[in-house]
Amino acid sequence: MEIPKELINSLAGINKFDKASFLSAHEKAPYISIRLHPVKGHSMFTAYEQVPWCATGRYLEERPVFTVDPLFHTGAYYVQEASSMLLDHMLRQLLPDRSGLRVLDLCAAPGGKSTLIASLLEDDSLLICNEVIRSRASILEENITRWGYMNTWVTSNDPGSFKKLTGYFDVIVVDAPCSGSGMFRKDEKAINEWSENNVALCSQRQQRILADIWPSLKENGVLIYSTCSYSVEENEDVLDWLGSSFKLDSLQVSVEDNWGIEETFSEKNKLTGYRFFPGKVKGEGLFMSAVRKKEDTGAIKLVKYKYAHDKKSYDQCSYLLNTDFLCIPTEQDYIAIEPVHEADYHLLKKHLYLRKTGTSLGVPTKKDWLPAHDVALSVSLSTAIKKVDLSKEQALKFLKKEAPELDGLEKGWYVVCYNGLGIGWIKALGNRINNYLPKNWRIRMEINDADWA
Ligand code: SAM
Repeated sequence: MEIPKELINSLAGINKFDKASFLSAHEKAPYISIRLHPVKGHSMFTAYEQVPWCATGRYLEERPVFTVDPLFHTGAYYVQEASSMLLDHMLRQLLPDRSGLRVLDLCAAPGGKSTLIASLLEDDSLLICNEVIRSRASILEENITRWGYMNTWVTSNDPGSFKKLTGYFDVIVVDAPCSGSGMFRKDEKAINEWSENNVALCSQRQQRILADIWPSLKENGVLIYSTCSYSVEENEDVLDWLGSSFKLDSLQVSVEDNWGIEETFSEKNKLTGYRFFPGKVKGEGLFMSAVRKKEDTGAIKLVKYKYAHDKKSYDQCSYLLNTDFLCIPTEQDYIAIEPVHEADYHLLKKHLYLRKTGTSLGVPTKKDWLPAHDVALSVSLSTAIKKVDLSKEQALKFLKKEAPELDGLEKGWYVVCYNGLGIGWIKALGNRINNYLPKNWRIRMEINDADWA
């Protein structure tokens, strides 16, 4: 692999950068890792090596075709690069109490950091996963739905739209768009797109994003900034710009020496960052840092609203989930949100494009309730719902949107499961069974003979 000379030269000044081990690591294949869902996947993959800085992270020995693993579709795990899982370690250390928080993951697609954050928050916290690029927001929405938490919502807004939410968030994660050098091992094409000019453009864009989002962080709130670039211009220099523009404290976390993560400091303001270099860590290139806001930039007031809970519809569909919720009508469906988040719902609806709010419940029909796909994947799916466990072959056929061949089912709705975890709805009609998997969730690839079993 031909790493650009300009990049290597620019890294020479970084404390503990080891050119030889860095270059030789780029001749090797990247590590493959997954992160287990704390509820759905906690007892799986126990024999695999754990990612040192994340208790639910596991290294796999080889890359399977995840699309043909029905477990992937249940949300039992998320395929995530190991270095990124440092966020788990950071959030646990910096936020020992993760109840009642409002958290924003600003650059969230496809959802690696969002699903990690969701796994750490208490139910009364609210996580807003935002992705400005609409086409990428749909994959984010799918991954968030699969992860199954009611307190994890998806928005699709430009960072500037958050300015109005002054002092609203306790935590903001900015996993910024960057020049991508840390991903060279995983994506060789990224090398052709790399240039010093692009590094400079990315650095300016990162500063704009941070300037846009800073007002919406509370005083004493935590901002986590990360990139998958090695360039100082996109990392330490951006921290220096932040430290010179706003009042903040740098935050440290303890990392074990044998993890191979390097602590670095920005040149001017001595703000701390954590660097991952392949060759030293079992993971790809990454930079992550955390600061605490030390200025009061005001706080938005929650808006006045009319109580939106629809008691009649709630009574029709409350059997779907085994948790208390508000049942709120929208233009398309009814949604379930945590009662504690009603004021947030009205406020955010006023200022943002809410793509996914809480858990979609579905819609009433003449005699029945048409349950939404969200419910089948929810961690709060009611134990009272009838379930049918499928074999791998049956599950893959279901995921290809074929009509399942299941004998002897009484008429009615069922959640079909794999390993006891929901993947979608079917309705048994007596003479046939209808598959309710949403069309856009269907597996489109050809499945090889060997993968069915
Ligand atoms: N956090 C994600 C994860 O862990 O899966 C990866 C995020 S990726 C590094 C950066 C994201 O920023 C991309 O999804 C990209 O579409 C989005 N993005 C691009 N331009 C942006 C901008 N001007 N403001 C905010 N986000 C932007």
